[in-house]
Amino acid sequence: MADHDNLARELNVARPWKMLIGGELRHGGAGVFDTIDPTTGKVLTQIPKASAQDVNDAVAAARRAFEETDWRENGNLRAKLLNQFAALLEKHANEFAALDSLDMGMLNMAAKRFGVRSMVRNLTYYASWVDKIYGRVLPSTMPNVLGYTRREPYGVVGTIYAWNAPLLFLGSKVGPALATGNTLVMKPSELGSLSALRFAELAMEAGMPPGVINVITGTGEIGTALVEHPDVEKISFTGGVETARRIAALAAPTLKKLHLELGGKSPAVVFADCDQDLSAFTAAMGCFAMTGQACIASSRIYVEESISEPFLEKLAAACGSFKIGDPFEQDTILGPVISKAAQERIEGFVSEAIQQGARLVVGGMPPREAPQGGYFVAPTILTDVDPASRVAAQEVFGPVMTVFRFKSVNEVIKAANDTPYGLAAGVFTRDVGKAHRLAHALRAGTVWVNSYGVLPYTAPFGGFKQSGQGREGGWEAIEEYTQTKMVHIDLGQC
Ligand code: NAD
Repeated sequence: MADHDNLARELNVARPWKMLIGGELRHGGAGVFDTIDPTTGKVLTQIPKASAQDVNDAVAAARRAFEETDWRENGNLRAKLLNQFAALLEKHANEFAALDSLDMGMLNMAAKRFGVRSMVRNLTYYASWVDKIYGRVLPSTMPNVLGYTRREPYGVVGTIYAWNAPLLFLGSKVGPALATGNTLVMKPSELGSLSALRFAELAMEAGMPPGVINVITGTGEIGTALVEHPDVEKISFTGGVETARRIAALAAPTLKKLHLELGGKSPAVVFADCDQDLSAFTAAMGCFAMTGQACIASSRIYVEESISEPFLEKLAAACGSFKIGDPFEQDTILGPVISKAAQERIEGFVSEAIQQGARLVVGGMPPREAPQGGYFVAPTILTDVDPASRVAAQEVFGPVMTVFRFKSVNEVIKAANDTPYGLAAGVFTRDVGKAHRLAHALRAGTVWVNSYGVLPYTAPFGGFKQSGQGREGGWEAIEEYTQTKMVHIDLGQC
């Protein structure tokens, strides 16, 4: 196992971290709180805790940058600064990856290949959109009238997000929000704030104008203050469905625009004609990557009855091959879960399912080989599960898969769609007709066929049903962070 104390020393993690408000780095008005390394269970460092005054100051700074500077009109400046910032972030790739691995247990390899890359590429990709955000000239229905549309920014956008992929969220929210001329107040999760605080320091070094990016840290209370603030025009939220319900209620008095990226209980449908070895490995990785702590986790697997037992064995074999351990070790596939509370919650799902008669195929026990003191859960597969039970119906957000059998296409479509969630789905088949039929019938924002979890920054991503509203990625994010203005000009009077 890597020496986490030494890594923390090398990264100077014990320094007094500061928030970014109006171009100044400052301490939290409400003190500090501990952040824990989930691999060791030890306190890693302390994070500033924002006060209500800090929230007000951050929103005021963002408002000034939006209203009193040329930020929203100066596309060249925005593109230049986003590119400059991305280049600086890339220089600190290893540092960002290590911070997330210590702070929230992300596999270091994944943080480098997926996290840092997503953060950097989202900034450069959206910088390249700046000069391509067109309005339309409308056909005239009256003489001497010119009508055209503009896509304009909202103003101050508040982003509140989860701890499970902080580097991705820094890119996928900051890139389109700033490219379109908004200014930002960001609140990362209290369980994964370090990379956002480092991002804030480098935003200053990259020359971001004061107030364009503000980063405040704290618990849900700070998120609440941001949602309730009358000068915040829009909230971009990534997190759980229950929190989103609270946010929707808090946003009601100001009728704030909401962009919601929420949880899932995503199905993967496996037909007998698929490449079984490859599909089993892909479906297992779809569920167990990020230790099952991914919104898109393929946690419900539907296998055609004729191959159900051999396929279950292949899934179990894939699990058996996954090394559980320190996120800094190259061959680790499952790192820790985020906290002691998460570990106990996940174990609770599994023990309840077993008590209710589910068959445990693999996992279920605390992994013996994992580092002492950390929060580790073995990849677990359950079958013969009641589809209405908690483990089959609710998001576990941990390495737990439930496997079902099906006989007909109609039956599996109905079962896969029988959930309030609709984030993602997978289909494994060599039959192109079945592939398209399922891709159209599954009620999910993304459907992968013979693959799972591919998330290019060029592609729209978001949820059907209660998995969210709005889209991140691609052109859709430009639409998400802009509103349409219609301009009518009576040329007769000009
Ligand atoms: P969470 O909902 O507990 O917290 C998310 C954020 O909301 C945190 O920053 C938290 O401090 C803040 N928050 C909590 N209560 C609040 C309140 N009352 N008002 C305002 N803000 C509040 O979620 P989590 O445990 O951090 O993340 C896990 C969830 O996120 C899972 O459900 C997962 O599926 C989802 N998620 C979705 C996506 C996606 O893109 N669809 C991506 C990653 C994670």
